[in-house]
Amino acid sequence: MPLTAFAREATVSVLINGKLEAIDVVCDPRNYGGDGQRFFLCATCSRKVQHLYLRDERLVCRRCASLTYASQHTKRRGLHRARDIRRKLGASEELLAPLPPRPRQHMAAAKYDRLVAQLVAAEAVIAAQLRDMVVRVRRRFEHDRHRDRDSNRARTAR
Ligand SMILES: [Zn+2]
Repeated sequence: MPLTAFAREATVSVLINGKLEAIDVVCDPRNYGGDGQRFFLCATCSRKVQHLYLRDERLVCRRCASLTYASQHTKRRGLHRARDIRRKLGASEELLAPLPPRPRQHMAAAKYDRLVAQLVAAEAVIAAQLRDMVVRVRRRFEHDRHRDRDSNRARTAR
């Protein structure tokens, strides 16, 4: 739904950990008169909502809040797993850092191979998550650009 479908009533500024966060309040006119119903706009998806939740120092709708939480949670879990495997290999804990050479001794080499296979899988998951994040940020950027363009058009049409 375009932003111009309802009147922007006000922008409320909230101070969160010393940072100013602007929240838009919009008003939906009621068909049968009256004052209209007021909603907040989610800072992330611009949905009209009655309640906002604090996530990453931003006030967002419940859906965005739970999405942020879930992705942070799995991201952290993946990073921990990769770090654990790297520690067992005696490698640097840094993501994608080079590994020590494969041992010559048969048993040690087999263990090394097993751990490297696990590490490749774990780091592939992290890489996919990072890729998704980039796509999401890009999509959000496109969305904002279109919204700005639409609201500019509405302003000049008046
Ligand atoms: Zn949202």
